[in-house]
Amino acid sequence: MQTIAERLDSARKGIDQAANNAHRPPNSIKLLAVSKTKPVSDIMEAYEAGQRMFGENYVQEGVEKAQALAHLNDIEWHMIGPIQSNKTKVVAEHFDWVQSIDREKTAKRLNDQRPANMPPLNVCVQINIDDEQSKSGVKPSELADLITFIQSQENLRLRGLMAIPKADPTADEQNMSLSKLKEIFDHYHNSLTNFDTLSVGMSSDMQAAILSGSTMVRIGTAIFGKREYPKA
Ligand SMILES: *Cc1c(COP(=O)(O)O)cnc(C)c1O
Repeated sequence: MQTIAERLDSARKGIDQAANNAHRPPNSIKLLAVSKTKPVSDIMEAYEAGQRMFGENYVQEGVEKAQALAHLNDIEWHMIGPIQSNKTKVVAEHFDWVQSIDREKTAKRLNDQRPANMPPLNVCVQINIDDEQSKSGVKPSELADLITFIQSQENLRLRGLMAIPKADPTADEQNMSLSKLKEIFDHYHNSLTNFDTLSVGMSSDMQAAILSGSTMVRIGTAIFGKREYPKA
């Protein structure tokens, strides 16, 4: 069995390799370690191996981990799962990034509830790039309005887009959705300050995502192993 440190090392090497293939500098792609459902001790192991960015999907679980590790003040916590309105306050109080914004209401509440002594909350809009019925994320046609709204919120800093492309796509489907995503990203990246993050790519599609411009890959299974309970 490999240790978390060894798997993290392989994940970083995989990113560097994909970056090379794409003729991009390896440091232009960040690694978010997705620690959902995994214990604090796993996060500590990754931390000791140098990892600083962690992603959580479930509000309660993420907040508990952030509190347990509050003494490690260089950890950057990213919320990447859906947020119910009654949970926005604890998210605004404990996270550094929220990547899963897909409606004005959530954005407004996070803005209003961000404590005054904390820096602006970094946010990404989650876009439902393949227009899937079941999936969270704003429709591409509704993106512009949401972006305008977020730009007006002074406690939010709009950093980019997050997407979870369709599972098990054909090569053509994957190319189409990744290139559509890249085109939308470039449009805003070229016109807005701070809009520097294209969060796409997981354990299974990291290579393809990096080839088409991802700046942040979100890796869970390949670092921490399979999850005990089968939540997305
Ligand atoms: C679980 C999850 C990941 C990580 O997925 P793996 O397949 O375990 O690498 C990435 N992004 C989101 C939004 C997730 O929910």
